[in-house]
Amino acid sequence: MNELLLKSAAELSELLQAGTITSVELTQASLDRIEALNPKLHAFLYVDHEGALATAKQVDEDRAAGKTMHPLAGIPIAVKDNIVTRGIPTTAASKILEGWRPPYDATVIVKIKQAGLPIVGKTNLDEFAMGSSTEHSAFGPTRNPWDTDRIPGGSGGGSAAAVGAFMVPLALGTDTGGSIRQPAAVTGTVGFKPTYGNVSRFGAIAMASSLDQIGPVTRTVRDAAMLQELISGHDVHDSTSLDQPVADLVGAVNAGTTAAKDPAKPLAGLKVGLVKEMEGEGYAEGVLKSFHEAVAELEKLGAETTTLSAPSFKYALGAYYLIMPAEVSSNLARFDGMRYGVRVEPTEGPVTAETVMRASRAAGFGDEAKRRIILGTHVLSAGYADQFYTSALRVRTLVQQDLAKMFSQVDVVVSPTSPTVAFKFGEKTNDPMAMYLNDIATIPANLAGSPAISLPSGLSDGLPVGFQILAPIGEDARAYRVAAALEEGLGGSLASQCPAASWEEK
Ligand code: GLN
Repeated sequence: MNELLLKSAAELSELLQAGTITSVELTQASLDRIEALNPKLHAFLYVDHEGALATAKQVDEDRAAGKTMHPLAGIPIAVKDNIVTRGIPTTAASKILEGWRPPYDATVIVKIKQAGLPIVGKTNLDEFAMGSSTEHSAFGPTRNPWDTDRIPGGSGGGSAAAVGAFMVPLALGTDTGGSIRQPAAVTGTVGFKPTYGNVSRFGAIAMASSLDQIGPVTRTVRDAAMLQELISGHDVHDSTSLDQPVADLVGAVNAGTTAAKDPAKPLAGLKVGLVKEMEGEGYAEGVLKSFHEAVAELEKLGAETTTLSAPSFKYALGAYYLIMPAEVSSNLARFDGMRYGVRVEPTEGPVTAETVMRASRAAGFGDEAKRRIILGTHVLSAGYADQFYTSALRVRTLVQQDLAKMFSQVDVVVSPTSPTVAFKFGEKTNDPMAMYLNDIATIPANLAGSPAISLPSGLSDGLPVGFQILAPIGEDARAYRVAAALEEGLGGSLASQCPAASWEEK
């Protein structure tokens, strides 16, 4: 492998700025590796050789001409395929969007293009971001670079595998119930779900709009901070986007590491809460062991830890699996065979709008999408809405209150990201409930809108374990500071231990 691909975006940024390397050289290396490894991993659904190299060339020319460049200019990035890219196929891993080329760019894509990051391609996911393993992709699953018999997490398994296997240093994901963090956890990478509204959702294909958030997938905490700074900020195209200045997230990473007041105890004075309901039953022993070792490291770095209780968290998963499908059923109504992608006419009987919609949706959606649409329409239907949807909203409020209460006592809350390490293909495909349980620790942050990061805490049986840090709404910088200190305390990024680091391309 070209050695450049082992480097972080922050390191590459310096090399590019010093003129030691060119973006064309780096982007070509990334494309070569994608071409060589994608048949094995299936992380990408589409690769844009030409577009990526054209951007790289432009960036090199602009730099040579002395133009002021964004620090990430010239660094290749992969984009989850439920984020629309103008003229580039965007499928959300669904047959119903096969062949669709969006006529516009998502706001995050506009920002990435303006900053000059070559977009190498679109990554695989569970159909419409519904799942925890990428096994629900209509185009076949992605494989985990740590063990190709295992799932890379989901829904954003493609982005996580691409970053984890050194195909690219940066990727974008979306997180509705954990789809950035859980894949990061099981692939030894870093994933950050920003505060709801921190990053514009304009152009993210909606799953559950009150929960969806775009965020970074990287191998280091610093890279995630750099990427989130680039993509965040107010957007007039998204009425839920927050009208606030972009926070200094790289500064927060420095405050946890190089610029810490007391480098031996960068977290001195920090109060950390563990949650009684976020360990124990359902959590694998190896996961808990790694989690508690990381907690001990936080203490070594100066933090004080206490265990708190969030009784409503027991019901968070259940509430999510009512609220999310309710929103899914309404968001997916637009895929009707009339406006986008696949249109199927009935084989018999009259061809009317209704029969075409029925035939198109029957052919275009996979089982999991159908399951959630049906569930969602049911929980919203007259006579049932109060019993299901409204009570789920009450639980959501309780989760918000429990988190707020914890944050009145501690600065950050920590937990394992995922109850288990990566599981084998097929283990949970026929048991939706078992699949849903993967999200047990990630969902509270989505229900509350708070920021949360997953970074590796170590290995269990040779497979990565994810450590989650939650901060109060708007305090993304705090989560970055703590994560950066922990990452350094644990000996730096774990990604270099991935077997894929020594895979050769030929
Ligand atoms: N695994 C969760 C689900 O299936 C999370 C999805 C997501 O965050 N997009 O709903």
